[in-house]
Amino acid sequence: MQKSIERIAGDSEGVSYEFPVFRFDGTDKAGSSAYLQAALHAGELPGVVAIDALMPMLEKAEAEGRIKGSIIVVPQANPIGRAQYHFGEHQGRFHLGTRTNFNRGFPLLAAPDVELLPDTTLGTADQRLKTRLLQLSIGHDIVLDLHCDDEGLAYLYVHARLWPAMADCAAAMGVDAVILWDEDTDGTFEGASITPYLNLPAEVARFDRRVATTVEYRGILDVDGALAGADAEGLYRLLVARGVILDQALSTPGSFTGIVAPLENIDMMPAPRAGAVLYDVKPGDRVAKGALLATIVHAPGEAGGRTQLFAPQAGIILTRRSRRIIRAGEDLLKLVGDSKSADARSGTLED
Ligand SMILES: [Zn+2]
Repeated sequence: MQKSIERIAGDSEGVSYEFPVFRFDGTDKAGSSAYLQAALHAGELPGVVAIDALMPMLEKAEAEGRIKGSIIVVPQANPIGRAQYHFGEHQGRFHLGTRTNFNRGFPLLAAPDVELLPDTTLGTADQRLKTRLLQLSIGHDIVLDLHCDDEGLAYLYVHARLWPAMADCAAAMGVDAVILWDEDTDGTFEGASITPYLNLPAEVARFDRRVATTVEYRGILDVDGALAGADAEGLYRLLVARGVILDQALSTPGSFTGIVAPLENIDMMPAPRAGAVLYDVKPGDRVAKGALLATIVHAPGEAGGRTQLFAPQAGIILTRRSRRIIRAGEDLLKLVGDSKSADARSGTLED
């Protein structure tokens, strides 16, 4: 394994950012290769500690000559976001300089060719970071971008072209749900990882061996040693299932038994009023149409000071907010409905 340090120039003299990159060279040039990164949204740490638990497993496999395809690991992909604090609160989701979400604005290339990447020398630091991350990841058969939600189940976003071929990956990782999407107009990292292949002939795109996914490792507070160990084992099982690592002690993953739904089935439930949220449901709950989801206390102590929200359709609660203060129009939770949401939104993913 080799460690190298990437440097990203900042937006003013004397400022630059760095992050380590770990490379494992495979023994088989034809073997499937993998790229893993965590904390692109810099405050989302469940994936960071999962990678911390995974690294000794990779080093053991390397020492035993069992790594077939090359592996690149970037445990903390966003040093810019990691350094952003505003009045004591960490701000790892948006670049403060440009107000751009760190998981939007990646270039959507016409083909998986690093020569097509834009020159961001005169762009902003976050653009330079995005170009570099894409450059590191392009060409790998397996690209995993580890995130987390606010409070939630473990779930994956997957492009519809990769499903059900990726069911073995979802089973190997032991996630609860898979959300399928089909068009990225915003330039998420996942979108930038799969879009270049969509117009290639099938024998070149090789969707049977390709993996690109945004992994939502539950909630922001689920940074936990036991979960990290279990998630590391899930990542390892995926790498074995897809032939990146050889491990005859592991059996092939069974079939995926979790929830699979298209993005259009998600109801985001915007809050009708601002106030304090009293939830009646939590992630994992199955709800019937008309079930009480939450009550917003907007005029405490006054008659009519509470507003209730009900499920527009039957489904499963995927996520909810970790904070209990809400403004009107902000989303209260993600309900994965059994059918298309009347409020279906376009876009790749809601991460
Ligand atoms: Zn995220």
